[in-house]
Amino acid sequence: MFIIYLLSLDFIHERFGFKMVLNKKTIEDIDVSSKKVLVRCDFNVPLQDGVITNDKRIMSALPTIEYLIKNNAKVILCSHLGRPKGEFKPEFSLAPVAARLSEILGKEVKMAKDVVGEDAKSLADSLNDGDVMILENVRFHKEETANDEEFSKALASLADVFVNDAFGTAHRAHSSTTGVATFLPAVCGYLIQKELDFMNSAIEVPKRPLVAILGGAKVSDKIGVINALLEKVDTLIIGGGMAYTFIKAMGYGIGNSLCEEDKIDLAKQMIENAKAKGVNLLLPVDCHIGKTFEENTEDSFVDFDKMPDDYLGLDIGPKSQDLFAKAVADAGTIVWNGPMGVFEWDKFASGTIAVANAVANSNAISIIGGGDSAAAVYKFGLADKMSHISTGGGASLELLEGKELPGIIALNDK
Ligand code: AMP
Repeated sequence: MFIIYLLSLDFIHERFGFKMVLNKKTIEDIDVSSKKVLVRCDFNVPLQDGVITNDKRIMSALPTIEYLIKNNAKVILCSHLGRPKGEFKPEFSLAPVAARLSEILGKEVKMAKDVVGEDAKSLADSLNDGDVMILENVRFHKEETANDEEFSKALASLADVFVNDAFGTAHRAHSSTTGVATFLPAVCGYLIQKELDFMNSAIEVPKRPLVAILGGAKVSDKIGVINALLEKVDTLIIGGGMAYTFIKAMGYGIGNSLCEEDKIDLAKQMIENAKAKGVNLLLPVDCHIGKTFEENTEDSFVDFDKMPDDYLGLDIGPKSQDLFAKAVADAGTIVWNGPMGVFEWDKFASGTIAVANAVANSNAISIIGGGDSAAAVYKFGLADKMSHISTGGGASLELLEGKELPGIIALNDK
């Protein structure tokens, strides 16, 4: 698995001429042999009745874990799972992750009763070279999200070295992502390396044309991203609920569609800005509308400038699907974040499916920015056709915005 991963990354570097931009130390820059290595992973997997329904996040952590085992480290894994809000809640225990990891690795992954304290410490001290253990959910302690110094210190006291490989929480300054790095030599793992590599390469040295596709519910969540992307992209496609604020900004009626009134002026400025910068800004030219916000609502298709007052837009229409697919077809690089409509309902999933297919069928480097677009790509069975599916929605949006992530900044420079 590890070799396949390295080969595929090398292949991508070679084929597309990506350059490495990471100036932080990685696990290959330090000696891990016989060292207790605390690894922050993102094992925030979906669970149903205690059963893991998608283990993608566990699989994504394997290259780092396997490297550490192979190099005789004593591996101490830690992660959060769900939102236990600082309390010990058994339904958020990492026990199912320990069991799944034991299966995958073919060796026992011992589970500590807590994150810090005597049990965790004695288990960590009992590890032999190549052994693996996992701490309980770090968010069972409210000190974790508060980035509490004493808690960070207690966590650090379990190990000799810290490896951050949790890309999904790298945009959060918590004890197990940044605090602990103050007290230990701190480096990044292969997943973070891979995520940064893909995202930075796509934005900083893209194979052109660079096409960004943004969707989802709110403009306000993506203002920073849109502004940053307008400086970099050749084409910016905006779909989903957020498109209606733009359509209104152009002076058209949008019925009862989602609209952020206080963002209309900003949307106007963005449209002007795109023109000034020569960015091809594409908005939906037709919409799949419904009478109410329900899957079985009365529906129809209209051009964007003929929206009835008593309907709301729930997906892009077929003309927009064609328009967006054409823009994607000759792209060199595609970055996609956010669905084109309410894709959770089959009736209004066509726009997101069409865009997902267009991205999958293009020859471009395709990067799916976590969250709902990643969920959609898995749901439609297209995951294998994408160059990279990010494990962090929030973190990848912040990278697109050009922000530095606290969980990366905290690591040791090369
Ligand atoms: P976000 O978290 O901002 O990326 O938004 C994702 C959510 O946007 C998904 O749950 C979609 O169902 C929702 N969404 C997409 N298009 C629309 C729309 N036209 N109206 C309402 N919600 C939408």
